[in-house]
Amino acid sequence: MFDPHLIRERYATVYERISAATTRAGRSADGITLVAVTKTWPAELALAAYEVGLRDFGENRPEELAEKRPAVEAALGPEAGITWHLIGTLQSRKSRLAADHADVFHALEREKIARRLAADLAENGRMLPSFVEVNLSGEATKSGLNVSRWEEDATQRDAVRRMLVDATPVLPVIGLMTMAPWDVPPEDIRAAFRRCRQLAEWLAGELPGAPRLALSMGMTDDFEIAIDEGATHIRVGRALFGEREK
Ligand SMILES: *Cc1c(COP(=O)(O)O)cnc(C)c1O
Repeated sequence: MFDPHLIRERYATVYERISAATTRAGRSADGITLVAVTKTWPAELALAAYEVGLRDFGENRPEELAEKRPAVEAALGPEAGITWHLIGTLQSRKSRLAADHADVFHALEREKIARRLAADLAENGRMLPSFVEVNLSGEATKSGLNVSRWEEDATQRDAVRRMLVDATPVLPVIGLMTMAPWDVPPEDIRAAFRRCRQLAEWLAGELPGAPRLALSMGMTDDFEIAIDEGATHIRVGRALFGEREK
């Protein structure tokens, strides 16, 4: 149903783009986790992506993850070595789906969700390393903790810091995630990614002994800029799988 050759070719192109970007930035491509965003595509596409070597998959809706992961595991077995990333906003009433099916969560943005997730995880005995999603532009339509003025605004900074301080062993915070603003020139995208990295650096200084924070930023159109600004996880859909229908 899905042509592995086409996916293999696109993956090679994405990999070349990653390599070129890491070389320019003086970084190693090994430092980048490519999250292949399979949202809206059926499980068969994830199977074809697995066949060409992709191992990190991203879903933005917990319901879809809760269907697709078991379907893929039915075909490959649970020990296939796939890491499932939930990359989209989570409503607290859906926390159970995330706790049961996600391996990494990229969009932690509220204490309430953190509490719900931690309770669900304590019950099912899983753990869910998570990124705190931050919103650097302050656009109300964007998800994430508002840190649009974090450099000046101690309240904004402290809201993020508290998410890290309050993190529990079942829900450890491993980094920050952000989405670039829409329809802006590349300089503005770069500025957003840079400020996200600087915020992570500030947090690392505030919480000595904390491991270096990962940075989930960059998608099909802007992942080179994100890599240049320190991204460790890029979330790529269209460049691997083509345009989504819905
Ligand atoms: C869909 C999605 C992506 C991937 O976007 P592409 O433009 O297809 O690469 C990345 N991150 C999130 C949160 C998404 O919802």
